[in-house]
Amino acid sequence: MNEYDTNRIYDTVKDIGYLKTNDHLNADCYLLNTCHIRDKSKEKVFDEIGRVRKNYKNKKKPIMIVAGCVAQAESDEMIKRDPYIDIIIGPQSYHKINKIIKNFNFKKDELTEFNTEDKFNYLDKIKNNDSGVSSFLTIQEGCDKFCNFCVVPYTRGPEFSRPFNKIIEEAEQLIKNGAKELTLLGQNVNAYLYKYGNKSYKLSNLILELDKITELKRIRYTTSHPKDMTDDLIECYSSSKKLMPFVHLPIQSGSDKILQLMNRNHNVEKYMQVHRMIKEINNKVEFSSDFIIGYPGELDTDFNDTMELVKNIKFINSYSFIFSPRPGTPASKLKPVEKEIAKERLINIQKVLEDYQIKKNETLIDKSIEVLVENKLKNQNKYFGRNVFLNSVVFEGEKRHIGKLVNIKITKTNRNTLFGKIDENKNMRAA
Ligand code: SAM
Ligand code: SF4
Repeated sequence: MNEYDTNRIYDTVKDIGYLKTNDHLNADCYLLNTCHIRDKSKEKVFDEIGRVRKNYKNKKKPIMIVAGCVAQAESDEMIKRDPYIDIIIGPQSYHKINKIIKNFNFKKDELTEFNTEDKFNYLDKIKNNDSGVSSFLTIQEGCDKFCNFCVVPYTRGPEFSRPFNKIIEEAEQLIKNGAKELTLLGQNVNAYLYKYGNKSYKLSNLILELDKITELKRIRYTTSHPKDMTDDLIECYSSSKKLMPFVHLPIQSGSDKILQLMNRNHNVEKYMQVHRMIKEINNKVEFSSDFIIGYPGELDTDFNDTMELVKNIKFINSYSFIFSPRPGTPASKLKPVEKEIAKERLINIQKVLEDYQIKKNETLIDKSIEVLVENKLKNQNKYFGRNVFLNSVVFEGEKRHIGKLVNIKITKTNRNTLFGKIDENKNMRAA
């Protein structure tokens, strides 16, 4: 979502004459769009500001803006810790960025209210210039679920769903710009609910509406919550021709005790039920997930339950991190699991997750798979695209392949990437 937000901020500031530069130590203005989900990402912000301060080439100080969730959560502390920061702007105040830059006179400024509706009303009037083959499109923001470990409800604010027609208009714009794949975004994307008069629109309605647009080839969405995987959405894995057979569905832990301590509002059985229902409807669908390891109270038996779940589902790609206490969240006050134990568990789970990923990739060797070609790799005569499961695919191709669905015969794989060559036989047949 930060990538989407950064593009939209850029579409906005262009109006007052600010353009991107590659001269990184000579800019008039810096904008760091930040993530607060784990502590590491926050520290990166200060490193980056320090790097600019030390190496900046001009005499006049640049305007230093910190945007995003770190800015929202730690506005005062940030300015105190590094006075090089001039402007703090939270994720729901981006629409005011031009005003704040134009009026800036080197007095510190902070914008951290939750104005999600105003923000989108403003952004809806500005053309989305993203011209990627695969584009992001935010449909929902914020969260009302308050998992005990998570900062999102405090940094992105309450759940907000954008108007259905505005999303479709933005999708049409992106498709005009060249998008062939859209990833619908939200912190709880499957909680999307827009009411207008006596009608209400859900994520499934959006998917089926986008399905009708001929030029659009692929639809994805992320990130979803198990509780909001409703029957109508599950049904889309059979009724939509363009929804990709890949669900990123975070579970965090395979232990009901830990899920309850996390305030996740679902148990393992609910997750397994969603998995079963989707597989019954379309057995090609594969799953990935997020895991938090070493959550306060996690015993070996809880961790073993998580490993059991991983073995049952055979996720093809997942994210796993050690619990990071976030300031202001209920879990930050709890006694953490010993660092060494948490680290060992993380290594164990990542080993199993990686093995599945490698094995799944290996099953594709010598097979011809459909790839949406996104771009040419820098400094190499190779092209990059993704298969339906979001794996990176690198192959020898040609410029004319960009934006097209092509068949690639896989010759080699590693954990993250599939390598191959154009399958002339299949592509000719398709033509
Ligand atoms: N809304 C989605 C859900 O509930 O499944 C997840 C969105 S959250 C922004 C992305 C991921 O960050 C979570 O799934 C979780 O694994 C991870 N995360 C959030 N807070 C964390 C924390 N305090 N420590 C470690 N990982 C965290
Ligand atoms: Fe964070 Fe997701 Fe829980 Fe919301 S549902 S609090 S975004 S982990």
